[in-house]
Amino acid sequence: MSRVYNFSAGPAVLPEEVLKEAADEMLDYRGTGMSVMEMSHRSKAFEEIITTAEQDLRDLMGIPDNYKVLFLQGGASQQFAMIPMNLMKNRAADYIITGQWAKKAAKEAEKYGKVNRVASSEDKTFSYIPDCSDLPISEDADYVYICENNTIYGTKFKELPNTKGKTLVADVSSCFLSEPVDVTKYGVIYGGVQKNIGPAGVVIVIIREDLITEDVLPGTPTMLTYKTHADANSLYNTPPAYGIYICGKVFKWIKAMGGLEAMKERNEKKAKVLYDFLDQSKLFKGTVVKEDRSLMNVPFVTGDADLDAKFVKEAKEAGLENLKGHRTVGGMRASIYNAMPYEGVVALVDFMKKFEEENL
Ligand SMILES: *Cc1c(COP(=O)(O)O)cnc(C)c1O
Repeated sequence: MSRVYNFSAGPAVLPEEVLKEAADEMLDYRGTGMSVMEMSHRSKAFEEIITTAEQDLRDLMGIPDNYKVLFLQGGASQQFAMIPMNLMKNRAADYIITGQWAKKAAKEAEKYGKVNRVASSEDKTFSYIPDCSDLPISEDADYVYICENNTIYGTKFKELPNTKGKTLVADVSSCFLSEPVDVTKYGVIYGGVQKNIGPAGVVIVIIREDLITEDVLPGTPTMLTYKTHADANSLYNTPPAYGIYICGKVFKWIKAMGGLEAMKERNEKKAKVLYDFLDQSKLFKGTVVKEDRSLMNVPFVTGDADLDAKFVKEAKEAGLENLKGHRTVGGMRASIYNAMPYEGVVALVDFMKKFEEENL
């Protein structure tokens, strides 16, 4: 068996310890004589899995009691609709457009009400985060929406926008659990887990209780109403049980690593190796302004599409996989999520140095 360094943006690398544990428990989960995939979601064993997972996530993020944690399906993309369906009481919301995912979310929300795009960084191919300290927040906005870490462009909000008292909703798919977070600053924090937490198929929604109501837009399906899932502790219907089980193991792994403070330190150390190299390289260039660089997704280019393709191909041959940039931007992107070891980033930088010497 040989494992590669996997720089995929998602689904992405998972901690090896977690995969090994899951393998050990595959045929007989703790004396139940069956795998977690085969057991009832109403069983005692699964109840413990989901309750423990929720508690560990609450401990890690310091989630206050007046927030619910929901384990849902449909990916982050389903939240693009679920958020307006549940939150747009005035049928108005403000969106900050920092990339494709925020753009898609805004477009979807337009099906349900008035969407004000109060800031955007599209003028410079989303290579920065706009100044959000004094935005023209709409009087009647039900919420202000951001994509906190832009997976495709490699930017991250280092400071949350001033929402002037409006509820903040954040898509944290690609920075979930990468650093400590003050949950009280948000109304809704959500993300698909396949970037930084677990396998595809689970989306976690952390939502303040006062935002969970029966007063949703007319025609909202039962399954797309937050209250349905909040009232049933994410067991209204069959949840993505195996995915939740793996997420639970990743929460334990992060706890054992020292929690989110330790994750942040580790992620900063990893990102620094790569950014420091990019800053002095004569061949490779980072594409994001320094202040807004993501710790998780690092896009870079050589400026020559053929050379980029050569790099991606040779990197793969060297065991460094999935370094091709998003199809809409080209170039390269290294996603260095929580589970990417420091050694993986060092191996990438060593390879980049060698490639630079050979191709400059
Ligand atoms: C990947 C991603 C999405 C889309 O996630 P799906 O689970 O595929 O719907 C949305 N937002 C961000 C920030 C992402 O990185």
